[in-house]
Amino acid sequence: MPEVSAEVLEQPLEVKTTTCYMCACRCGIRVHLRRGEVRYIDGNPHHPINKGVICAKGAAGIMKQYSPARLTRPLRRKAGAERGAAEFEPISWEEAYGIMAERLAKIRSTDPKKFAFFTGRDQMQALTGLFARQFGTPNYAAHGGFCSVNMAAGMIYTIGGSFWEFGGPDLARAKLFVMIGTAEDHHSNPLKIAISKFKRDGGRFISINPVRTGYSAIADEWVPIRPGTDGALLLALTHEIIHTGLYDRAFLARYTNAGYLIDLDPNSDRYGLTVQAAVDTGHGNPNHAHDELWWDRISNASVVNHTPGADPYLAGEFTLPNGAPVKPAFQLLMDRVKDYTPEWAEGITGIPAATIRRLAHEMGITARDEKIELPIAWTDSWGVEHETVTGNPVAFHAMRGLSAHSNGFHTIRALAILMSLLGTIDRPGGFRHKAPFPRAIPPIAKPPNSPDAVKPDTPLAGIVMGWPGGPEHLFVEDDGRPVRIDKAFSWEYPLAVHGLMHNVITNAWRGDPYRIDTLMIFMANMAWNSTMNPIETRRMLNDRDENGEYRIPFIIVSDAFQSEMTAFADLVLPDTTYLERHDVMSMLDRPISEFSGPCDSVRIPVVPPKGECKPFQDVLIELGTRLRLPVFVNADGSRKFRDYPDFIVNFETEPGSGIGFLAGWRGRDGAKSMRGEPNPNQWEMYAKNNCVFQYELPRSYQYMRNCNKGYHEWASRTRLRRYSDPIVIQIYSEVLQKFRLAAQGRGPSKRRPPPALAKRVETYFDPLPFYHAPLEVHATDSTRYPLAAITQRPMAMYHSWDSQNAWLRQIHTHNYLFVNPRLAAEQGIADGDWIWVESMHGKVRCMCRYSEAVEPGTVWTWNAIGKAPGAWRLAPDANESRNGFLLNHVISDELPATGGSSTANGAQTISNSDPITGQAGWYDVRVRIYKAGAEEPQETWPRFEPMPSLPGVSTARRLWQAFVAGTGEWK
Ligand code: SF4
Repeated sequence: MPEVSAEVLEQPLEVKTTTCYMCACRCGIRVHLRRGEVRYIDGNPHHPINKGVICAKGAAGIMKQYSPARLTRPLRRKAGAERGAAEFEPISWEEAYGIMAERLAKIRSTDPKKFAFFTGRDQMQALTGLFARQFGTPNYAAHGGFCSVNMAAGMIYTIGGSFWEFGGPDLARAKLFVMIGTAEDHHSNPLKIAISKFKRDGGRFISINPVRTGYSAIADEWVPIRPGTDGALLLALTHEIIHTGLYDRAFLARYTNAGYLIDLDPNSDRYGLTVQAAVDTGHGNPNHAHDELWWDRISNASVVNHTPGADPYLAGEFTLPNGAPVKPAFQLLMDRVKDYTPEWAEGITGIPAATIRRLAHEMGITARDEKIELPIAWTDSWGVEHETVTGNPVAFHAMRGLSAHSNGFHTIRALAILMSLLGTIDRPGGFRHKAPFPRAIPPIAKPPNSPDAVKPDTPLAGIVMGWPGGPEHLFVEDDGRPVRIDKAFSWEYPLAVHGLMHNVITNAWRGDPYRIDTLMIFMANMAWNSTMNPIETRRMLNDRDENGEYRIPFIIVSDAFQSEMTAFADLVLPDTTYLERHDVMSMLDRPISEFSGPCDSVRIPVVPPKGECKPFQDVLIELGTRLRLPVFVNADGSRKFRDYPDFIVNFETEPGSGIGFLAGWRGRDGAKSMRGEPNPNQWEMYAKNNCVFQYELPRSYQYMRNCNKGYHEWASRTRLRRYSDPIVIQIYSEVLQKFRLAAQGRGPSKRRPPPALAKRVETYFDPLPFYHAPLEVHATDSTRYPLAAITQRPMAMYHSWDSQNAWLRQIHTHNYLFVNPRLAAEQGIADGDWIWVESMHGKVRCMCRYSEAVEPGTVWTWNAIGKAPGAWRLAPDANESRNGFLLNHVISDELPATGGSSTANGAQTISNSDPITGQAGWYDVRVRIYKAGAEEPQETWPRFEPMPSLPGVSTARRLWQAFVAGTGEWK
């Protein structure tokens, strides 16, 4: 090996702190530099998220920084070149801005919705959403609809918060930890640290998952389950908890709507809704009086909920003085789960009934008999003072394995209800919220509800994404047709709170509900792993109409790397890496809060941008300024913000509100937090403090935040909440019932779904969770395609992000289909054989690997290891494209319209999405496997033409790379 010269060793080593972005966990890191080059990255021991821990991905950031796949110049598709051929010419930024500003200004002055802006796994949605709103287009969303919107919506519509950024398991105090549907998680390092301590302290860890990977590998018990059947398990567990009386009655009565009386008069317009007293309860929320009735056990009469001295019946049926029959919501839940027995669930989930009973018993007994009492006095929303905070130490964690199914919303509602029955919400040892959650149920922000919200040369009237509370909040035309290109907030996907990015290309190509002009994609590989059915999507991206024009006329792609998607761009904008730019993890977006209080953080550049790369944030600020979008310019139209860092410091959500992107070191001198005037030195203050701001709540505000008076008053002062009223847990969902009533042609809203969708809305908008098989299962011949096929995210890679990373690709240079040996033997397939995986949508050839760590009815592979030849500047014959494969080839974004799943326009297909939230059903596909013929090539199929290198990508080796490769002296 070459020697390191003394001269190099004498160079001072510089250490800069910033925030990792090799996954979405956002650990603090220290970047060690010599002569301006990154030499080493380690964890920042002073950072609250990871406390110095770093994972393989984080340490390999150096190889992302110096990846040969880096784009370095703005590129324009060559005149006459076909989309997808990746033939580009470099242009200047000035030309790129000119092209965009001219095109977008024309769209904005005519029909702003012809500009569609969708982003991938970014962490700046508060800015991208603001840009879209200011532009005036409703066609904006980030990746949540194809990721885990069911998790966010199912939980937030039930308990006002959700897992990961918004809440999580309190493993420091839990005794039992149940993880369901999670492999490697977003919350990667903190969860590993917490599980490790939890196990050392004697906690018991149960993992429920079809596959035993990731965290499950160290679980005390693995409970294999068939994909898409978690809802049946959770309902059976609920049945058992109720049947054995192991629910926390006191918690349910006081902090949930279990005791609220539901109107069951079939002739009432409020059938299935709560009965309200029409009195002022003094909670101060003009939109929610909190005047629902209980049936009081003491007086045996109806009273307004939380009347001092009253205690509600949770079971029974009663008659109001006006003769209306009513039942407490909990009684309706009991009625619902009566037949959801463990025996019933066994046939669906594959989990023995005895195991389900044992799990329910273990959860219930642990919650009841191992209670924690913390000597923390607090006051609840109805003014009752409590001497202690109680904990029922059963903690759950769930993620995409529950979410990414077309039945996921009800599954996650069932989970949130089970957690509530056990009395574990925002209590020690259970689930804990993280600021800015909990929020009202549903949160106050609403999408626009009329097509009039879209007007030329005008910002959108309303925020782009919001939380519908009933049909009146849908974003539809007068005849019920969707206003948005992805059909979010329409009768097809009423609670699509994260949009449906996976529908955009198909809808835009088809012109359903209309054609668009320009599609801007940031950080999403829609021509490959971020799309279902990549072959068809690539065809649509390249397809022309009867006039010979592209059906999607103009595509702008911003990315840092030469991904498969860049080949289909008309304009490529080279983005920076996370080491080259400013970023904020904002309270307005996705902060890094802890259970104990709000936290946000920043990234500060540690190296200059490569080549002509520009941070996409700066591009948006510049474009917004050139387009004179009001927020980015002064009254006279002049530039308001120099660049993104300047914008972050000076932007306020409303002039003078003192609320901005960053909560720390506000006020002119930085002495204020959460609220305060802009501080010109805010970035410097974050830099001096490890790039992170932490706010520790008083102990009395740290628990029971659904109904904690002190916390709510503080949260409304700091504008984390608008009002300080209680956030009562919704065991029974009135929001869902309002949609169902509209579908039945009655109820408080005058809006009605188009007739073709009425049955669908009535079926799925059930105020209590129910189990239905995923839509794809209904549509599949299960005799021909009996196996579930899913993907898992490996610990060493975050989605597809680092498949090009020189260090990480040595861990996963290609993928196998993992098959239970019993199943493989039945098919005559040997370990290592080439096989076909076939669904009703397509097929892919890959290699089989035996694994005992998968239930026999499921096959699986690592996510997004397979690459198109030449993409990411891997050699055209790289393992990733010869042996690696993409399961997406057997998954479709559309399904035959069967089983009551109708569409508004009478089409024969429906989106492969949850009918409530629009969540993409990634894990619903059913397949068969069989051995490839001996004469077939031993390489993956389908195959693609190699993608050429884009102009500007660099081949030069860094000095240290030459050193590592043994070809040069490290000078
Ligand atoms: S867990 Fe994620 S954010 Fe943390 S070091 Fe690893 S890659 Fe970076």
